[in-house]
Amino acid sequence: MKTVILTSHAGFQHRVPPPHSESPERLGAVLDAFEASAAIRGLPRIDARRATREEISRFHSPAHVDMVFNGEPASHEAFHGFDFDTFMSRGSLEAALCGAGAAVQAVDKVMAGEAEAAFCATRPPGHHAERDRPMGFCLFNNIAIAALHALDGHGLSRVAIIDIDVHHGNGSQELAETEPRVVFGSIHESPLYPGTGHEHETGLNGNVINVTVGGGTGGEIWQRRLDEELIPAVEAQQPELILVSAGFDGHEADPLAGLMLEEADFAHAARSLAQLSQRIASSRLVCCLEGGYELGALGRSATAFVETLLAS
Ligand SMILES: [Zn+2]
Repeated sequence: MKTVILTSHAGFQHRVPPPHSESPERLGAVLDAFEASAAIRGLPRIDARRATREEISRFHSPAHVDMVFNGEPASHEAFHGFDFDTFMSRGSLEAALCGAGAAVQAVDKVMAGEAEAAFCATRPPGHHAERDRPMGFCLFNNIAIAALHALDGHGLSRVAIIDIDVHHGNGSQELAETEPRVVFGSIHESPLYPGTGHEHETGLNGNVINVTVGGGTGGEIWQRRLDEELIPAVEAQQPELILVSAGFDGHEADPLAGLMLEEADFAHAARSLAQLSQRIASSRLVCCLEGGYELGALGRSATAFVETLLAS
């Protein structure tokens, strides 16, 4: 697939009180690994713009938007915490705006036919952010904002969010629970943070599909459940654009979860998702980085994922 990378140096300016898993070094690990890949190094790389308040407000409540816009601490040394693991520093607003902006811009690129696939290498991640609440390292829900941009900005009638992060994307599911034009499908470890995403949660007429796997699950079962359960259930609803919450914290080396995935499993997922977009969504695939907290595994997994998109 013809692929473009969107990123923003603003992502380095969002700091969290150490020790914290969601560090600026994560973005560096991904970009350094991309730079070391002969296949990815030469790809078009777009410096993401900020999302507008209007774009963010398609998903988030006015109170949430105000909370983040006004959430930076007064001093460079201080942090403002929303919960025990979700913080803002000076520079966090710019990072969050550019993370959401990258996702919106990626939708514009694939809708214009300038690229078939887009990968947004940004931080902080987004899929835990709910309409009214930053949580789980996430300030704005980038992928939910992108989905609503595709629907309301580009006039699509149905889009899918497929979430392969090891954690359940509770914020993205919240969107699907009130928005029948969104199909949300997730494969994630359970039980695990945030505790949502049970298989009996099916949204509006089945537009939410949760596939859960237990701690210790390896690639063979994960791949099979992705290919034989999650993707067919999403495909049956005929979305016109595939958005992917691309988290790599299912890797066996990741400290925050217990799956036993390897780089090859993420490459497999990339191939399956690329083929899905080619079958039903006019080769339109937008991927946003979510989790991945072991720096080496994160860089290698994201690289394997994007290299496979290019080869698909
Ligand atoms: Zn995660």
